[in-house]
Amino acid sequence: MSTQSTDRPDEQPEQRPAVELADVCHSFGDLDVLGDVSFSVSPGTVACVVGPNGSGKTTLLRIVADLLEPDAGAISVAGDGGRRVGYLAQQPAFRRQFTVAETVAFYGSLVAERVDVDAILDRVGLSAVAGRRVDALSGGMVRLLGLAQAMVGDPSVLVLDEPANGLDPTMARHLRAVIDDLTADGDAVLLSTHDLHTVDRLADTVLLVDHGELVAAGPPDELLAEADAASLDEAIATLGHGGETAAVSPGLHGGDRP
Ligand code: ADP
Repeated sequence: MSTQSTDRPDEQPEQRPAVELADVCHSFGDLDVLGDVSFSVSPGTVACVVGPNGSGKTTLLRIVADLLEPDAGAISVAGDGGRRVGYLAQQPAFRRQFTVAETVAFYGSLVAERVDVDAILDRVGLSAVAGRRVDALSGGMVRLLGLAQAMVGDPSVLVLDEPANGLDPTMARHLRAVIDDLTADGDAVLLSTHDLHTVDRLADTVLLVDHGELVAAGPPDELLAEADAASLDEAIATLGHGGETAAVSPGLHGGDRP
């Protein structure tokens, strides 16, 4: 039984959000894409950003990954300074002539970290194709390679844009296992998805973005209760844009994915 004092909770790093946004706004020219978005993600948890196409999910993720400077608002990421954020782009692109293993080793050299390439490929389920050239990979394998790349350097925050897209059921299982491992290690994961199965399985928090606004945020159960809905897609349809189900993209209903 530990007798350690807990009277300084503010100084315990695990008590601080891994990601915190306050009133983040962004426009592209005269197109307002994000307005006053505020939320936080705790260490060891998964936050899933859902919402119709064009609602600003990718823009939001790029801002958290420090690839885009917001017009206004504040962002803090655990371990700020180093900005230890791993990022999986919606359409990851790699040097076509590199093999899978060379690609991961190359990113290791870029972040000046020693990388256990075999271990990372094993975690994401790409060991069997370690020697295969990138231009011979399926779309799902490229995405898993992007996940491997995002994990290089052991970041404490992972930002994954549509990680489940194009994955077959085995690949999707690897994705979920990787995310479970990461959160068990205390890492925070912020991902966007149209796949409500992914949300169901992984989300500690759902962040519903609609027309650039965070219209609902909370644990899946809370969203169900708030919307008085029996399912997540119903809750999302109800909470999104004043209940106009037509505004929710068909992909959100998840019917076309395994
Ligand atoms: P989502 O990921 O939810 O589909 P995005 O963040 O990709 O939404 O896009 C939000 C809006 O911003 C869309 O209208 C999109 O066309 C626009 N947009 C995204 N990136 C740019 C850019 N680089 N320049 C201009 N408009 C952009």
